[in-house]
Amino acid sequence: MTCQPHSFDDQFVIPALQAQLDLFRPSDQNNNVFYSAPVVDLDDYDNIIVCISGGKDSIACLLQLDDLGADKSKIELWHHDVDGAEGSTLMDWSFMRDYNRHLARDFNIPVYFSWLEGGFEAEMLKQDSFSKPHKVETPAGLLTLSRNTNRAKPATRRRFPQVGADLKTRWCSSVLKIDVGRRALTNQQRFNDKKVLFITGERREESANRSKYNQFEPHTNSNNVRQVDAWRPVLHWTKEQIWDALQRHSVLAPVPYRLGWSRSSCMTCIFNGARIWATIKEHFPDRLEAIAAYEQMFGTTISRQGLNVLELASKARPIKIEDAEALKQALSERYELPVFAAEAEGQGWSLPAGAYGKEGCGAS
Ligand code: SF4
Repeated sequence: MTCQPHSFDDQFVIPALQAQLDLFRPSDQNNNVFYSAPVVDLDDYDNIIVCISGGKDSIACLLQLDDLGADKSKIELWHHDVDGAEGSTLMDWSFMRDYNRHLARDFNIPVYFSWLEGGFEAEMLKQDSFSKPHKVETPAGLLTLSRNTNRAKPATRRRFPQVGADLKTRWCSSVLKIDVGRRALTNQQRFNDKKVLFITGERREESANRSKYNQFEPHTNSNNVRQVDAWRPVLHWTKEQIWDALQRHSVLAPVPYRLGWSRSSCMTCIFNGARIWATIKEHFPDRLEAIAAYEQMFGTTISRQGLNVLELASKARPIKIEDAEALKQALSERYELPVFAAEAEGQGWSLPAGAYGKEGCGAS
C-alpha cells in the first residue's frame, strides 16, 4: 500500500523546505556570507544606509525597505556625486543631484552627498599628482578628507576608465563611488559601536558578473569599531518586479527611462552604445563634444573598437524621444517634475519608453 501523505511530503514539501533552507544557507559558514538573503532582520540594525543613484533599482531598494516595515527613522540616503560639486558637468545628468534631493524630501528621509573633489574629470586629468580629497556631507556638517600622502604615490591617469568588469581599470566605479562610501563610513564616529546595514541596488539580471554577487556579506569596512553588513535587497529581482514596485508606490519613472535609456547611470557613461551616443549628439551635442575632445587629447578612445564617440554616434539612429516634458527636464539643473504620480494633476503612472530597452548604457 502506498502512503500518499508521505509520498506528497517526499515530492513536494521536503524539496520546498530544502529550497528555502538553501536560500538562507550561508555561502561561507564562517564569514556570514549569503549568496541569497532576500530578507534580513532590519530591527537588528542601528543605521540603514541606502546608496541612492536616482535610478530605478536604488529607488526599489528604498521601496523594499518600506514594504518590509523598516523603521524609517533609521534610514538615510547616500548619493555619490560622480561629477563632484565643484562645477564639472562631464558625466552625470544635469538634474540628478536635485532629483535625489527631491526624492529624499518627498520620502521624508535625509540625504547626504559625498564625492571626490572635482569628480570624474579631475581624477581623469590627474598627472603626476595625488588624488583630490573626498568630501562627505554628514549630519554634523561637511567633512573634507585629505589623502595620506605618506602612503599614496603621485600618479597619472589622463585616460577614460576602461570598459570592462575589472574595477582597477574601470576606475570610475571604485574611485568615485566605492572609495567615497568607504571613507564616509570610516570617518564618522556616529557609526562607532553601531550595527549598520549598507544597501546597494545591483541586480543579478544585469550581467554575468553581477549574477555571482552575494546578497548579504560583511562590508569591507566592518571591523572591531563598527559592524557593517552589505545587503543587496533587489539582487534577485527582475526588471518587471522593479517597475511593479515603483508603480505600487506611485513613484514616477526617473527621467532617463522616459527618454528611452534602459539604465539611469551617468548620461555619458563609458558603457553607452552607439544609439545612446547618437541620441546625445541629437539632443545634447555639447556633452558629446566634451567627451570627444578628451578622447582626442588623450589619443585613445573609450570604445575598445577604436571608434571615438563621434564615430559611434554616426553609426546609429538616435532614439525618437516623444516625452517633451522629460526632454525639457534633461536640460535643466533644477528638478521641476514631481517624484510621485498624481492622477488628478495629469501625472498618472506609466511605464517609460526605456523600461525594457536594450540600449547599452550603465555599468555591468
Ligand atoms: S555610470 Fe558609467 S561612467 Fe558613470 S561611474 Fe558608472 S561605469 Fe563609470
